[in-house]
Amino acid sequence: MEYKTLLRDSIKALPESKRAARQPVSSYTTPDIYRLNYNESPYGPSPKALEALAEASKRPNIYPDWFSVDLKTEFAKLHGLPDMMHVCTATGSSSLINILGEVFLNIGDEVILGDPSYEAFRDTVNVAGGVPVMVPLDADMKYNLDAMYAAITPKTKMIVVVNPNNPTGTYVDSAELEKFIKKVPENILVIVDEAYLEFVSKPETYSMIKLINEGYEKPLLVLKTFSKAYGMAGLRIGVAAGKPELISYLGKSGAAWNINFLGQRMAAAALQDQAYIADIAAKNAVERDKITTALEELGCKVYESQTNFILFKVPGIENTEVYAKLAEQKVLIGAPVGMNRVSIGTAEMNDKFIKIMKEILK
Ligand SMILES: *Cc1c(COP(=O)(O)O)cnc(C)c1O
Repeated sequence: MEYKTLLRDSIKALPESKRAARQPVSSYTTPDIYRLNYNESPYGPSPKALEALAEASKRPNIYPDWFSVDLKTEFAKLHGLPDMMHVCTATGSSSLINILGEVFLNIGDEVILGDPSYEAFRDTVNVAGGVPVMVPLDADMKYNLDAMYAAITPKTKMIVVVNPNNPTGTYVDSAELEKFIKKVPENILVIVDEAYLEFVSKPETYSMIKLINEGYEKPLLVLKTFSKAYGMAGLRIGVAAGKPELISYLGKSGAAWNINFLGQRMAAAALQDQAYIADIAAKNAVERDKITTALEELGCKVYESQTNFILFKVPGIENTEVYAKLAEQKVLIGAPVGMNRVSIGTAEMNDKFIKIMKEILK
């Protein structure tokens, strides 16, 4: 029996996923290993979220609130959205990204993506039988919005901008992005993934949720996650904001109702502690400057980061070798796109990383 014949056509044709998260190796590590490879928060969640976790952990037997009323209400309040009907929750933004493919893409629909960017989007387009249209970033690894606009065809269904971008850490100015979004024709859904926006140090930055608040009519969804600044990657909570009609379509997927109780309770509490998030962003910025300077002094090419990770290229050494040498000393980093990506840890973690980099480059 050829099981493959059972598959949907788009899955039969599916290329292998390039995501590190989909490789068959355990990524569970002990606390003495420094995990600077997944852009996790080394600080963990707000104490308020931990209190909510302690409460919720007494009742794992009950189902979550399917509609995530508290979480959506808190999120709407924080971002000035009129009400919770502007918000969808799911099991991490990964799940929301899957929902986009499930709900919006027909076979052959084109989706314009930056390259390199977050691989989850390309995967979701491929699974749905859509066509990823990859638009290279510019020489500074920044989005080339003009080239993305030029890539629009009658088949374009969706355009995705990850801002700031992963794996590059680079950032598009908010006003520039807003202008671009407003230029995109109304038959194309614009997705802005703001997984790292909390870490941007530029005061003129704002979330594209602003457009939704201002009554912007063309289709726009903004994705947020609790996995990065909020320090809850293991809880799997993601949020999408948009006009109620669009949000209701996300709800056509079962995945929009499959959130977990613990994460839901924690996320609602975490939103009420913005001072904690601001503090983490401030610490991150200090450490980001420190690592950037250290790597540059070692002769590495460093891309300007506005996130909690840094993409860099070590001269004369393969990225896999850099990875291996650090791993020998229990520091894990990433090795995407022929380069290396280090997440920003605590001062102690970063100092160890810098010390090993100095040894490697001696
Ligand atoms: C880490 C990350 C996310 C978050 O994914 P979750 O499924 O919420 O953990 C989303 N988008 C980008 C670009 C990321 O790097």
